[in-house]
Amino acid sequence: MKKSQQKKDHRDIGKELDLFSFRDIAPGSPFWHPAGMIIFKELERRLRALLDREYEETSTPIMVKKEVFERSGHWEYYRENMFSFDVDGETYVLKPMNCPESTYIYKSHVRSWRELPLRLSEIGRLHRNELSGVVGGLFRVRQITMDDAHIYCTKAQITDEVVAILRLLDRFYNEIFQFPVTYYLATRPKKALGERGKWDEAESSLKRALETHGVAYKLDEGEGAFYGPKIEVHVEDSLGRDWQMGTIQLDLFLSRNFDATYTDEAGKRVHPVVIHRAIFGSFERFIGMLLEHTQGALPFWLSPVQVAVLSVTDAAAEYAKNVSDKLAASGIRVKKDARNETINKKIREAELQKIPYVLVVGEKEAATGMVSVRERGRGNTGTVLLDDLLKQLTSLRE
Ligand code: ZN
Repeated sequence: MKKSQQKKDHRDIGKELDLFSFRDIAPGSPFWHPAGMIIFKELERRLRALLDREYEETSTPIMVKKEVFERSGHWEYYRENMFSFDVDGETYVLKPMNCPESTYIYKSHVRSWRELPLRLSEIGRLHRNELSGVVGGLFRVRQITMDDAHIYCTKAQITDEVVAILRLLDRFYNEIFQFPVTYYLATRPKKALGERGKWDEAESSLKRALETHGVAYKLDEGEGAFYGPKIEVHVEDSLGRDWQMGTIQLDLFLSRNFDATYTDEAGKRVHPVVIHRAIFGSFERFIGMLLEHTQGALPFWLSPVQVAVLSVTDAAAEYAKNVSDKLAASGIRVKKDARNETINKKIREAELQKIPYVLVVGEKEAATGMVSVRERGRGNTGTVLLDDLLKQLTSLRE
């Protein structure tokens, strides 16, 4: 492969588009620059729009006493990945996952079978002590933003819930982002809680959901979490390396460990099943993957700058300002370039920034209320009335 055809690493793209940076003062934790933060916020917005009808959003503390994670089993099974420190003579941890704390919200009420399934979502900041040798760009970070959710349900509801999540994953990975994904079913690891019978039952309910949904999957023997089997969504990066993105995990122990219960139809107290699920997995990894797959040419709705307005001469500077003000007033993210540079130089710079629409305006356009349009990847696509373009862009954003 020639150098020019090689796909760029997301770290290079991040630098070129000024999206994020890493510094020695916080290894493995990205600094999000304004343009990168726009991508982050747009993804959050899209996610919430998809989930809000089905899920209820929560937020739980980042720093908690270690007893929470002793009770969940993480202190014993996951301790080397957790940051802990003493405050006022007590040991605290930075949560490596949201699940144990979600049970405190679940338990804030007496729950009845009528409330299930109860779906609590959280966009949580997690910290995991990845060895400094293995942290790398956005793919493996110490500070993770996870689009997490915990679904409390009955055993009979597992298949329907998992199928619904598989549909969500499809919608995301296939319809919205067109990522080539591989599904895995990860089974009981060596270091696991509980007896084998429960695991077999849980693994077969995940299999049933995968088959009901009709998706091909591979087995990943022994790679489940210590508390239950999981379905993983994997995507390859630009170097062909395989990464886990979204996940669905069946938790057999969480509600027992935290004594979370509901009252069933016969009036008996029962422990609900907990399904953990993440669609993006980690925002950081997802954005890294998105940058590599698009090589920075993000879809219009995600682009930090959606339209560049370039004036050909000083005489058109006033009109360029009017055009960009009008677009901005309609909620389009626009950048005006009225510098005293050649138009070719301005076009080249806007194209290197992967801006989807570049509008070139001179005196002729100013006199007629038009703009000359260059679309990313298509070049010059003609001259149109500004009002017509605005309609087109607004519908593109939806
Ligand atoms: Zn969880």
